Amino acid sequence: MQQFNNSLVWFRRDLRCFDHAAFYHSLRQSCSVYCAFIFDKDILDLLDRRDRRVDFIHASIVELDAELRRLGGFLIVRHAHAAEEIPRLASELRVDAVFANHDYEPAAVTRDARVTAALQKTGIAWRSFKDQVIFEKDEVLSQAGKPLSVFTPYKNAWLRKLHSSSDDFYLKAYPAETYASRLAAPGNGDAKCPPSLAEIGFEASDLAELGIPAGMSGGEQLFEDFRDCLDRYHETRDFPAIKGTSFLSVHLRFGTVSIRGLARQAVDAMRRAGGGTGAATWLSELIWRDFYFMILHHHPRVADRAFKPEYDAIRWEEGDHAQQLFRAWCDGRTGYPLVDAAMLQLRRTGFMHNRLRMVTASFLIKDLGIDWRWGERFFADLLNDFDLSANNGGWQWAASSGCDAQPYFRIFNPVTQSQKFDAQGKFIRHYLPVLARLPDKWIHAPWLAPAAVLTDACLTLGIDYPHPLVQHDEARKRTLERYAIVKKAV
Ligand code: FAD
Repeated sequence: MQQFNNSLVWFRRDLRCFDHAAFYHSLRQSCSVYCAFIFDKDILDLLDRRDRRVDFIHASIVELDAELRRLGGFLIVRHAHAAEEIPRLASELRVDAVFANHDYEPAAVTRDARVTAALQKTGIAWRSFKDQVIFEKDEVLSQAGKPLSVFTPYKNAWLRKLHSSSDDFYLKAYPAETYASRLAAPGNGDAKCPPSLAEIGFEASDLAELGIPAGMSGGEQLFEDFRDCLDRYHETRDFPAIKGTSFLSVHLRFGTVSIRGLARQAVDAMRRAGGGTGAATWLSELIWRDFYFMILHHHPRVADRAFKPEYDAIRWEEGDHAQQLFRAWCDGRTGYPLVDAAMLQLRRTGFMHNRLRMVTASFLIKDLGIDWRWGERFFADLLNDFDLSANNGGWQWAASSGCDAQPYFRIFNPVTQSQKFDAQGKFIRHYLPVLARLPDKWIHAPWLAPAAVLTDACLTLGIDYPHPLVQHDEARKRTLERYAIVKKAV
């Protein structure tokens, strides 16, 4: 194992100092370790000034800095173009190596290649590690040694690999704390704390009011809240009015929790419960996450094209009419209460329940005939947990153009989805109080309600709440025609 005098750990989407691969390896391999985070102008310049994710990152690095100081180190925080700043900082600090964790997104891969090349010129080593997934790249393959593109065989191979080591080797935590004495202490000139949001040109968002806890402590708190729900996850996960999922996606996105730690919790719960269906189903979701990272790694073209190329021939709605339909969907004005409530949840909180992501995506693509990329972009702008791989995977699943997607002729009915997953309309009433007085029977499709029911509910359609934008049955027929081109190609 090569040893270095000084090294630098570059924190990116891994904002924690426990069970962190790059942090652990740098401490083990170096006499003295600096830690840095860069607010990357290349990304920040594109965002709204009150972006919740910047607020989340900011709160998380404040906590990370405090935790590193408790261990004897500190976090250097810069607001700059990361690809240039990291080589500059590495030279400034006279380090021999920069350590970071793998990032699989195409833009990050390009950025890291630039950083590596710049470091190489000055003789500084680059070391990077798997950290944000359990298995990456080519670690899970088919029996023929090929990357898999169907989830179930991938999941089976994933589980076989996990259980192939008797001591849960792949879930072991990296005990970075053991080497904490090697952290470089702050000097006199080093700032006492990270810059404020205002100093990097941002404002506080409503994250705190929404009760979304950031940082390592926030991730831990959310998992503790969820722990007791784990056994029943398979029964509760599909109902948006119930707190049946973990809400950990934003923490997984920014690495304030460890994926190994979470997978370990799921595996332990399965063992305790003799196979525990709830924990097994939750582990399956974590495996979907690995799956989509693997797909993005092997097929980076999915970022803007269909995984199944023949789906790129589909003609989507265009022009002013398409723009109007899209705006109505974005604003929660489609006239379909479950779709509208879900879009309002996204706009007001930056989160949307998984069942509703499927329903709203399907509605945009298969009821309104809009290109899935428009919806993908809108989600990317608003989701706190936006992750290119999972978002693209989810949208291509709904568009039927993805790997292992639902068949093109499977079209969610937004009314029956509503009746099934929000039977009493609790979720709808929360986000659309204007519909609150409608009886359960009519809340899923107010346009079908008798006039007297609407009067009793103080509701005038077209004024208080929109008429449905499209008729689902007619839209369904149009979609089947639109997708006929794919049928011919298959
Ligand atoms: P839980 O149900 O508690 O699941 C635990 C974790 O498993 C999640 O936090 C997430 O990291 C992972 N996970 C769960 N479901 C999936 C899935 N289908 N694909 C990949 N990983 C999954 N998830 C994102 O993290 N970022 C996105 O940008 C994103 N966009 C999506 C877009 C669409 C159209 C769809 C259908 C799904 C998308 N998902 C995305 C997946 C899923 O909806 C969210 O991960 C989930 O709703 C987050 O809530 P939770 O943390 O309570 O999840």
